[in-house]
Amino acid sequence: MVRPFSVDMLRQRLGVAKFFLNGDEKEGVITVRPKLKPYFKHVTSSENGIIRVKMERTSLEINDPEGKVMAFIDYLDGERTLEEIAQKCQMSTEDAWNGVQMLNQYNMLEALDQEPMGLTEREQLRYKNNLTYFSHYETLEESKYVFQQRLKNSKVAVLGLGSGSVIAAWLASMGVGKIIGVDFDRVELNNLNRQFFYTEDDVGELKTQATKRRLEKLNSDIQVEVHEKEIDSAAFLIDILDGVDFVVNAIDSPPVQGTRFVNAACLHHRIPAIHIAIGNTIGFFYRVTPFVNGCTDCRLLETIRNDASALDRMRRRVDGTLPKVDFGNPGFAPNVATLTALVASEVCKQLTGYHKGQQQAFTIWDVHSFQLHGKDFPRLPECPSCGSARAQQSVEPCSLAEIVDIVEGMHAR
Ligand SMILES: [Zn+2]
Repeated sequence: MVRPFSVDMLRQRLGVAKFFLNGDEKEGVITVRPKLKPYFKHVTSSENGIIRVKMERTSLEINDPEGKVMAFIDYLDGERTLEEIAQKCQMSTEDAWNGVQMLNQYNMLEALDQEPMGLTEREQLRYKNNLTYFSHYETLEESKYVFQQRLKNSKVAVLGLGSGSVIAAWLASMGVGKIIGVDFDRVELNNLNRQFFYTEDDVGELKTQATKRRLEKLNSDIQVEVHEKEIDSAAFLIDILDGVDFVVNAIDSPPVQGTRFVNAACLHHRIPAIHIAIGNTIGFFYRVTPFVNGCTDCRLLETIRNDASALDRMRRRVDGTLPKVDFGNPGFAPNVATLTALVASEVCKQLTGYHKGQQQAFTIWDVHSFQLHGKDFPRLPECPSCGSARAQQSVEPCSLAEIVDIVEGMHAR
């Protein structure tokens, strides 16, 4: 991944009045003191005029017949300015700058600012391994501490505390500063086959209360807020989601409409969300970035437009003739654990920006082959929730009858 590198950002960070890349313009002082990450010092070798940098999944090869590049890399010790390095290596400052940019694109350089930001000593200790992990993704402009600080400053709502309780646990361990949980159910014995954040002692207790107690035990540095109620409208969520940075939707009822309520509330506040579901052969989650990619209703329209049997089921749901059949819940511990961990990983990427995350918005995980498949679903102009023809007057999603009408209109064109 090649990161955009902003000279302005660097200038701002260093407080340098002017920053010149062109050797002919000798104004200002270049005070950047780049440092190669210790890990890369360890994996970089030079032989027969070729430098090899062995990384986990790739390796870099750089032709270096005169040994100048290796000398350049050796001088990246955090002690010397770019100008001093350029002089030592008998190269122009511009060449040295280009070299630094190139190494920075491969995340090979430490951030210039190694201050622990607003992290307490206890947090630095608690998240020591997070920081080690993030250090592999830091660049000159963004340190590992910035990523952890972003988690600390984040407010995430987890809706549905069944498999959502496991996601909430991942987020609390990572250091997400505030977690808001919503559910109306009580812990049942049959939840314990997969919702391992609960114990037998919790059976019969409200999931919200059990989750709050356990999250606070898991991480007393974070804030936990819970709301006991079934999500039966978008309006119910409006106040709860105010100021939230990210929503994880793991509710399973009411079917179809529940997720549409969440979608409508997230669109109202323009909060990105991940919606998650698990079956017996696949699990999936999809990310909605409001008004950028497709939303839950876009997906619903796309699905029933292209699947006659899905449209038929929707029609029967609307006219009340779809029989209510309870197939039970196929939630199985390893499947729930894997899918929730994937979602937590994606949420972390979206909150911190240490990585841009899944390229495609919709991710399907195959329970048996363990493979991930990605696909996109577009934002549809016909969407009543995020499309150009959406109704502005109500925060609630339109009725399912209207969804059917829209699809029939799309078929008629
Ligand atoms: Zn939409």
